[in-house]
Amino acid sequence: MAAPRVAVVGGGLSGLTAAYQLSRDLPGARVTVFEASPSPGGCLDTADFPSGPMELGAEAFIGRRPEASELVAELGLAHELRHPGTLGPAILTGGRLVPMPAGTLMGLPSDASTLSGVLRPADVERAAREPELPLDWAPGGDAPLGRLIADRFGAAVVARLVDPMLGGVYAAPSVGLGLRQVVPGLAEALDRGAPNLTAAARDLTAHRTPGPVFATLSGGYRVLVDALVRASRARVVTGARCTAIRRDSGGYALVGSDDRGSWTHEADLVVVAVPVPLAAPLLTAAGGVDDAARALSGIRTASSAVVALEVDRSLDLPERSGVLVATDEPVPFKAMTFSSRKWPHLEDRRGHLVRVSFGRLDDDEILATDDLTLVRMAVSALAGVCGTTPTVLHSRVRRWDNALAEIGPGHDALIAGIRGRLAEDLPGVELVGGATEGVGVPSCVGSARAAARRLAAKWQD
Ligand SMILES: Cc1cc2nc3c(=O)[nH]c(=O)nc-3n(C[C@H](O)[C@H](O)[C@H](O)COP(=O)(O)OP(=O)(O)OC[C@H]3O[C@@H](n4cnc5c(N)ncnc54)[C@H](O)[C@@H]3O)c2cc1C
Repeated sequence: MAAPRVAVVGGGLSGLTAAYQLSRDLPGARVTVFEASPSPGGCLDTADFPSGPMELGAEAFIGRRPEASELVAELGLAHELRHPGTLGPAILTGGRLVPMPAGTLMGLPSDASTLSGVLRPADVERAAREPELPLDWAPGGDAPLGRLIADRFGAAVVARLVDPMLGGVYAAPSVGLGLRQVVPGLAEALDRGAPNLTAAARDLTAHRTPGPVFATLSGGYRVLVDALVRASRARVVTGARCTAIRRDSGGYALVGSDDRGSWTHEADLVVVAVPVPLAAPLLTAAGGVDDAARALSGIRTASSAVVALEVDRSLDLPERSGVLVATDEPVPFKAMTFSSRKWPHLEDRRGHLVRVSFGRLDDDEILATDDLTLVRMAVSALAGVCGTTPTVLHSRVRRWDNALAEIGPGHDALIAGIRGRLAEDLPGVELVGGATEGVGVPSCVGSARAAARRLAAKWQD
């Protein structure tokens, strides 16, 4: 069988991983990646600070999940792996920093008595009564995470622990997130018959695998992006925005534009690896999958902005990995990472490295805020946390437009339905990325490789 022409729309982690996997599984395939921006990587964006690399997008990945760790090893980058030190985050609540209580699972308490530093006594008592409440859980089921926790532990646990914890990752409040996707271990413990959430959290935290949960790369995510581009042997066309995917005789025609005008590209297999709101119109153009496109459009996304700072070491930076913000706290930022405290390999950099994140679901104002104002907001936030104004050695701002999807209850079934529809009506087209399997580097790698394998298997059939 002739080697196929493969087109990948979107040169972020998902698109590049799919391109890499397809070129391995279909030797001889001509793989082209179309990336709208001037460089590949998407949410993986490493800046050059004078003292070394600094992440403006994703900073780490869950190293205990196999997907990203395996890919890193396969690409010969295992020597780049670094792990965080032992410092935990603080929560900004009531105008002060308090350590994240020990033994919590995504902010969910396994022992309410540890919450007294964060919650008022009445709220601690309320949380402690959770095991007494009857649990209505059907194995295999799902629930809106925030509502379930508020109903069982009280709203304060959501506002001061769970939402601050999840806000840094999902940029969406837990009320719109699904338990099964966001805390799968907890859903599985309930499936196995855990009598309440406290018991499930206690069981899970007691049996945690020792050792670091997260990992990053010493040269920054850029080394992964570069390695994927090389190993995929794909033609990566930057500055090329795809505007439509149309059916063509025997395959598909991608239509797009770049600074030289419009272009058309024919392909047998297509991987769509763009953020959710951009994927729906591409699929609609192909026709026949309007309901799948509508379902995709229904997934809400959040925009955010990251201000990366290197500040003089005279600043008395707290001995924590960063700051999470209680939702009732009147500050404009949602999280702060003290990168050079969190990662021992960054400790010897000239200044302290700090990332300040802004932006929440349904609040796109941050995208319209100019760089100077964002840097001022970040410096003022840092000054508020440290008690003195830092001297900034270097700064960079990066906005993330609709980059993070709200993974709601029943998300897996929704995506399975969309995939089924595509398989029937647009054979040879796969949808991958953060909106499908969930937010995060391991999910994107897993989703992209699985989709590439499905396409390769079908082509070879
Ligand atoms: C600020 C931030 C911090 C994060 N931190 C972490 C973290 O620490 N750990 C973790 O695991 N995850 C983190 N994530 C999530 C993780 O980075 C993403 O889930 C993942 O990188 C998404 O990859 P992707 O390829 O699916 O999408 P993207 O990275 O969004 O890539 C999509 C690409 O498609 C391109 N594109 C869009 N439209 C078109 C078009 N029409 N034609 C051609 N190209 C197009 C875009 O320019 C982009 O390059 C973070 C995300 C953000 C925004």
